[in-house]
Amino acid sequence: MLSTMQDVPLLVSRILRHGTTMHASSLITTWTGEAEPQRRTFAETGARAAQLAHALRDGLGITGDQRVATLMWNNAQHVEAYFAIPSMGAVLHTLNLRLPPEQLAWIVNHAADRVVIVNGSLLPLLAPLLPHLPTVEHVVVSGPGDRSALADAQAQVHDYEELIAGRPEEFDWPELDERSAAALCYTSGTTGDPKGVAYSHRSVYLHAMQVNMAQSMGLTDEDTSLIVVPQFHVNAWGLPHATFMTGIGMLMPDRFLQPAPLAEMIEQEKPSHAAAVPTIWQGLLAEVTARPRDLSSMRQVTIGGSACPPSLMEAYDKLGVRLCHAWGMTETSPLGTMARPPAGLSAEEEMPYRLTQGKFPASVEARLIGPDGRKLAWDGASAGELEVRGPWIAGGYYGGAEAETLRPEDKFSEDGWLKTGDVGVISPDGYLTLTDRAKDVIKSGGEWISSVELENALMAHPEVAEAAVVAVPDEKWGERPLATVVWKDGAKAELAALKDFLAARIAKWQLPERWSVVESVPKTSVGKFDKKVIRKQYADGELE
Ligand code: ADP
Repeated sequence: MLSTMQDVPLLVSRILRHGTTMHASSLITTWTGEAEPQRRTFAETGARAAQLAHALRDGLGITGDQRVATLMWNNAQHVEAYFAIPSMGAVLHTLNLRLPPEQLAWIVNHAADRVVIVNGSLLPLLAPLLPHLPTVEHVVVSGPGDRSALADAQAQVHDYEELIAGRPEEFDWPELDERSAAALCYTSGTTGDPKGVAYSHRSVYLHAMQVNMAQSMGLTDEDTSLIVVPQFHVNAWGLPHATFMTGIGMLMPDRFLQPAPLAEMIEQEKPSHAAAVPTIWQGLLAEVTARPRDLSSMRQVTIGGSACPPSLMEAYDKLGVRLCHAWGMTETSPLGTMARPPAGLSAEEEMPYRLTQGKFPASVEARLIGPDGRKLAWDGASAGELEVRGPWIAGGYYGGAEAETLRPEDKFSEDGWLKTGDVGVISPDGYLTLTDRAKDVIKSGGEWISSVELENALMAHPEVAEAAVVAVPDEKWGERPLATVVWKDGAKAELAALKDFLAARIAKWQLPERWSVVESVPKTSVGKFDKKVIRKQYADGELE
């Protein structure tokens, strides 16, 4: 028997309409580096999104599911693009502005983007690429920047404000199939070519509802979220969509992502929430330690993208800022788990739960698969690869305009689950603890050493700013850990003392023999430790 319920498609345009009417006066505040930030209401944003959709359709001829790319910082105009492009039926393709130019070109060509909306400050990155982007017919420039670099461009160049000016502030958004693609996001391609995940309207909608649930971020229209995680990094973890559902204010840092302006933003605008990867919080911690600032408005911070070191969580606890750990990936939209401890525990009892990657929400099913391919028990001890499935989990990758969906065997099980490449354990009450990424684990003489565990132990030392541990080849053991360490400014500790410190915290056989003090740990395009680069530096003899 079929249900008797209405079959209303879950569309991005519905989130937009809701946000612009129910939360018309909620604000998007964009940092400008000037005395006053730019402030736009959700209602104004909706009107401008409609104007942008008219401009794309009537001005630039975008039809159907053509791809419109953004090469932009987090700002109000980027939010307009977030809503206008999918709502009109086209596909929003967010470009990671930190990727190497060749990879960026590869991605634009693979997606066959017809339009690129670009912030003026990023023209020096886009202009030299344009001759290699044959599908791009239009470049729309938003905000200040030297446009002379585009003088010879084959694509037509438009000014964002001029392009949308005078166009109608309403758009008759089409009723689309909720399974059609709304947004396209490529993984950063640490192995092989980048892979495109095409989120559906339905997956974006359901994911945003989960982000808003109390067990996840649980924000309301009384909150303002400082969205540091870039809009090109897995749709800023779904926050722009979630905010329009519940009226949460958005504080957007634009290109001011350094610790000092972030601290200033927090002090001035008093957000109650923020979201970013651990390296951002490490940097901010160093900044506020050197020049104390008032961070007390931040009730809660969502931290994920790589493991949160216990020392970092404790340091922010002391500042009255509660970090809440989450796990996810491009393929999971990204919310996969969130670490909310069970009710009724003391601060001390809560800590072990807060340090896990967290629990799975109702729509994310999980299983652990052992090396022999069998399902493992959730006993907190059996370690295996995490596989997940659910309505906002990728079932394949975008194959290109003419190709089928790609389902590589190393990424998808025969029965369609996503193989995450993350290794860990799950406790009987459902808390996931990741020990490592499968490719980062150190395989030493038949035993596994978790690089993350060593890093956490090292970063617990008061004079260590950052520490990254990678596997390097070893004649006797196959692989052994190499520890690279960044001292805090003005640190006086010796390496020997740090080794003793570590030895007191981990099993003796796990203690690295190889150590290197470095100026900084190389980072990926989304701010994670770039272990591939560290391994190469070691292979090239650049590290002792
Ligand atoms: P990339 O593969 O380029 O890093 P993603 O942003 O999709 O791109 O990264 C997803 C991966 O990041 C996960 O598979 C996992 O290894 C790691 N990760 C994300 N969140 C956490 C976390 N809270 N703890 C540990 N690892 C994490």
